[in-house]
Amino acid sequence: MGLLKDRIIQEGIVLDETVLKIDSFLNHQIDPKVMKEIVREFYDHFKNEGVTKVFTIEASGIAPAIMTAIEFDVPMLFAKKTEPSTLKNQAHYETQVHSFTKDKTSRVIVSKEYLQAEDKVLIIDDFLARGQASLGLVDLVRQAGASVAGVGICVEKSFQDGRQNLESEGIDVYSICRINSLKDNQVHFAPGH
Ligand code: 5GP
Repeated sequence: MGLLKDRIIQEGIVLDETVLKIDSFLNHQIDPKVMKEIVREFYDHFKNEGVTKVFTIEASGIAPAIMTAIEFDVPMLFAKKTEPSTLKNQAHYETQVHSFTKDKTSRVIVSKEYLQAEDKVLIIDDFLARGQASLGLVDLVRQAGASVAGVGICVEKSFQDGRQNLESEGIDVYSICRINSLKDNQVHFAPGH
């Protein structure tokens, strides 16, 4: 992968041996050129899966998810971490997600109206660490009786167990960029990534 890897090398900040900060182009300020390249690759990988909806969790999954949804020409749906008054009297699915970066467990909800049993759902997120966010989304999809087309990740930290946790649920995980370690204040990419 070209642009994403280049920008990680140029602008990525290793906060510690487990956390990479890429706020200048993906997590806070967003460079649409990088996003465009990422989502084309998601499209190439998942285009034959019959995707009917792209699904993510607020907040940092929303940008890659909306751009992916444009590429597939399907709606994008995001799970909410707080219950807005507009969802108060609406039937919803809910699950618990432990945030890796915030070290906090949140209740995550999505309206039943927007996930149907016939849906083939592509889950998108910015980072994959322990897989808790994606597994929470898988749980919501399955509660609706819908199926998971796969999980698309911008940056996978392969030294954590997110991929194993998702693959053991039978899920196809496709990552644009894979990092083997963040040791010695440096980003070490997996061979070929
Ligand atoms: P997981 O649920 O796979 O354990 O963690 C993924 C979620 O935590 C992502 O949605 C992302 O927002 C956040 N996250 C995990 N690791 C990192 C990281 O190294 N850097 C940043 N910026 N976010 C991360």
